[in-house]
Amino acid sequence: MSSWIVLLFGVFGLSSFVFSDIQSLTGPISLDKDGLTNWNSELAEKTLSDPQLKQKGLMECAEVKELKGTLLCASSKKVLLNKAMLRATLFSEGDAELQKGTVQSTESKFYSGSLTEILGHDIPSSELLGFWSQLEQACRRKEMCATPEEEELFKEVLLPFSQNHESFVLISYVTNGDWLMTLNHELLHAQYFKDENFRKTVDEFWNEKITKEDKEKIKTILGVAYNKNDEFLIRNEFQAFLLGAPASLRARQVLRPTLPVEFKTSTFSGAMFWFP
Ligand SMILES: [Zn+2]
Repeated sequence: MSSWIVLLFGVFGLSSFVFSDIQSLTGPISLDKDGLTNWNSELAEKTLSDPQLKQKGLMECAEVKELKGTLLCASSKKVLLNKAMLRATLFSEGDAELQKGTVQSTESKFYSGSLTEILGHDIPSSELLGFWSQLEQACRRKEMCATPEEEELFKEVLLPFSQNHESFVLISYVTNGDWLMTLNHELLHAQYFKDENFRKTVDEFWNEKITKEDKEKIKTILGVAYNKNDEFLIRNEFQAFLLGAPASLRARQVLRPTLPVEFKTSTFSGAMFWFP
């Protein structure tokens, strides 16, 4: 539902209508830096003009024009982003204590501690739908249900989107702070999921150019934040940190010296479109 329709409903005063803080845009969004900057500013303006949104935040989602099958969500608040997506990410990736394919409780310490920490997500549609189906079953058994933010994200955005897209990847970022860096990182994940040639190049590089010893080192470094037993996830994070925005991403600085010199001149450099 686009925001002007929501506003019209507001004007006509439907008393049962709850203002939606997670919405789909009607058209696709282009990966143009100025366009994205405008999107962020508009989001901030809408958020500031409404006291409820100012407190809770606003999230808008749109398909990426240049990367077919990629749904991008921008959120004005970290907590809103994570209340809507963190458990789906944990379901998709698992962590040191949580097995992949398990729905985490909102009462867990890890969950509440991460709500203000995580800046972006990348989740393929198969995992999103698997998460939703398990959560619905758990709710019917009265074990646990969706958070209001998860409910809104799935019912307003993801389930309708999945009707027209057989397979897609959801990526997201928070609009303040180093948003371009986060978005750059998440877009590299989207490419890894959706672009077969890109994924093949990364995988060949991982398989053929990185020694067994270095693979172990990389898994130890990334294992601090990610499930190191999932090699697909490790390869995906490895490329996103390496090819993504420079400097302030510590993992990139730590990982880069572990690589052979030819990496710097490899075909990967073409992926660094914002941070050459
Ligand atoms: Zn990542």
